[in-house]
Amino acid sequence: MYFTYVCPVQKKVTRKMQYGQEAHLELDRLENSQGPSLNHKYQLIAYAMLLEDTYNKPVRYGFIYTNNEKAIPVEVTPNARVYVKETLEKIRLLVSKELIPNKAGEKGKCVDCEYRNFCGDVR
Ligand code: SF4
Repeated sequence: MYFTYVCPVQKKVTRKMQYGQEAHLELDRLENSQGPSLNHKYQLIAYAMLLEDTYNKPVRYGFIYTNNEKAIPVEVTPNARVYVKETLEKIRLLVSKELIPNKAGEKGKCVDCEYRNFCGDVR
């Protein structure tokens, strides 16, 4: 606060900050060039299933908003529901057996991960 409002100084950009900024730009570029990623799609499907359970109403579509403010419709298909349920089973198995999940496929995902300080897979 002091250095922002009372005595502003030029903030030094560290190597980590620079790396994080580059990783974010790369993630944004990848996500915008290929439409919504599968993890976002299945996160949306899971939300739709939770809404159905909570409100007892069918959910047929959801929307993913991109950084350039485009709304991409995603159909909540029976196969997508099965995939979410299978993924939940895998997660429950990992938890019950206290197994470590595989590391993230993309290095950029580790930048903002809350487990970064504890994860042995961070490169
Ligand atoms: S820091 Fe570890 S837990 Fe987090 S995204 Fe990377 S590999 Fe996954």
